[in-house]
Amino acid sequence: MVTTRTPLIAGNWKMNLDHLQAIAFVQKLAWSLKDAKHDFESVEAAVFPPFTDLRSVQTLLDADKLVLALGAQDLSAQDSGAYTGEISGRFLSKLDVRYVLVGHSERRTLHAEDDGVVATKVAAAHRSGLVPVICVGETAADLEQHGPSAVPVAQLRAALAEVPASAEIVVAYEPVWAIGSGQAATAEQAGQVCSALRTALADVAGSDAAAATRILYGGSVKSSNIASFMREPDVDGALVGGASLDVDEFASIVRFQAHVGV
Ligand code: PEP
Repeated sequence: MVTTRTPLIAGNWKMNLDHLQAIAFVQKLAWSLKDAKHDFESVEAAVFPPFTDLRSVQTLLDADKLVLALGAQDLSAQDSGAYTGEISGRFLSKLDVRYVLVGHSERRTLHAEDDGVVATKVAAAHRSGLVPVICVGETAADLEQHGPSAVPVAQLRAALAEVPASAEIVVAYEPVWAIGSGQAATAEQAGQVCSALRTALADVAGSDAAAATRILYGGSVKSSNIASFMREPDVDGALVGGASLDVDEFASIVRFQAHVGV
């Protein structure tokens, strides 16, 4: 089956850049990509700012007709009610947020989000019309004990437990040992795990859904290594942390086709 999975380069800002810094950053990013005549239809670029920046960035994207997609870094498992401090997916939808990270390793580790919580958040995103970017990945200890694919595949299967097979999702394979460490997986390792994730998706949601779903690699992605990942047939983009905070570096990652001839 022939599919066209538009590559997605997603920048997870984590807890960086306030709303004023966010406006300046997004303006500069958009100018830089436009100057370089980036074809936004051939590679989609998305930014995932902190919650407090979303309204400002949305207003800018709308006013200047910028073709960057907006993502959030988390959402509540609930839609509304007495959940102090939580953010509903419905509120995010109203801000033209298209994507939401679910199950990032920092949420799993620092906020005790287990597979059950992740599944309920994936379902909440789907109910609100958001596309969950489901983050999965093994720790260094998992890698030693179970090999590279077992934990991410099990996490993905669990994350899909409460949504229909037709739900649009993005998967991000992020080995925990590669996040923020400067030590990225090899392209071959990433390709193998992404292929195993696609096989699991086919089993859970059917082969058409698996063929249409974008699977990203994340973990110390930079402009100097993005090309190698993008040459892997089952890698459809990248989730970028640290390097997404440098406009020129992030723009260069988004423009991987231009400088490597993939
Ligand atoms: C991340 O936090 O999702 C990530 C991939 O971070 P970094 O690119 O800094 O490794």
